[in-house]
Amino acid sequence: MEWLREELRELEKKGLYRELLPLSTSQGKRIVVNGRKLLNFSSNDYLGLAKKHSRECFKRWGAGSGASRLVCGNFEAHERLEKKLAELKKTESSLLFSSGYMANVGVISILAKEGDLILSDELNHASLIDGCRLSKARKIVYPHCDTETLELILSKERKKHRRCFIVTDTVFSMDGDVAPLGELFKLKDEYDAVLILDDAHGTGVIGWSSLDLFKLKPDERTVIVGTLGKALGTFGAFICGTETLRKYLINRCRTFIFTTALPPAIACQTLKNIEKVPEKMEKLQKNISFFRELTKINSQSAIFPLLIKTPEEAVKLSQKLYQNGFFVPAIRPPTVKQSRLRITVTSEHTEQEMELLWNNIKTCQAR
Ligand SMILES: *Cc1c(COP(=O)(O)O)cnc(C)c1O
Repeated sequence: MEWLREELRELEKKGLYRELLPLSTSQGKRIVVNGRKLLNFSSNDYLGLAKKHSRECFKRWGAGSGASRLVCGNFEAHERLEKKLAELKKTESSLLFSSGYMANVGVISILAKEGDLILSDELNHASLIDGCRLSKARKIVYPHCDTETLELILSKERKKHRRCFIVTDTVFSMDGDVAPLGELFKLKDEYDAVLILDDAHGTGVIGWSSLDLFKLKPDERTVIVGTLGKALGTFGAFICGTETLRKYLINRCRTFIFTTALPPAIACQTLKNIEKVPEKMEKLQKNISFFRELTKINSQSAIFPLLIKTPEEAVKLSQKLYQNGFFVPAIRPPTVKQSRLRITVTSEHTEQEMELLWNNIKTCQAR
């Protein structure tokens, strides 16, 4: 097993070695890492809901689910949450999954089959990429948000394939920019394609759905994946679409069938968190505007990328900020091409705290 050590040494040399950091507090804007108190600008807990817990949910349902949904792990709490999520995303129905990773891998690989075509944005989340890899369809990666090139590909290639799928993040997880959903919707219609949207960072941030920003309504060829582990503050994921899609996934989707159901207490807690979303989302929107003005980093979401030349410099800046009491990890290749600090703001941050962080970053960079 010496090659493992060699490969790790290589990573270290390139400044790409990763390590885990243990938190001794619950998730929130103030965390303690290795005994050090830090102001957190890195979590996807955009609405500060992760630390919420209701005794009621855990008392009623316990912590475990005990089986897959199709065996005896399907609880009323799941179905209640699914109805609510479908309503919020304006679709006929929805189906819960144990994680967003599993939802994406499962839905793409089961919908797109041999003889089909998948068109995928080059900056899509790893779980979408892995879903494409697992599918037997032909895959073409198009340049980031470039709908002109996408149309060119469609006009040339669409006819040669039976079915076509356009796959994209709505809010890109490392850049915070929003996909051109209006254009993508048109292309979907023009070329008789299915649009698969990963709304992990849009749900509860941009609105209940990123489609709301474009005044678009999902139709029967729109599939929306959402996660519960980000703005909604719990864990798990869901796929929204038609009632037929739900039935198909229950019968065919391997990452739904062959895994233990989401604990019903988590479904119950998610429903409770959803009640708090509108008020928190308003606060988050205010903070996003404030931080955008302050930093001039152009982002419509809660994710603000601060690009840094090299992985080593990104790590150094992150470490300096850590010393100064801020938690903003460096994101490096292979997660992204260009190293960066990925700053996330939440509804819980104050303007003062955001200014404090930005002044600190500027001072560190000047040195
Ligand atoms: C986090 C994330 C996922 C994965 O969701 P999990 O529930 O954490 O597995 C999928 N897609 C995007 C864009 C994400 O940011």
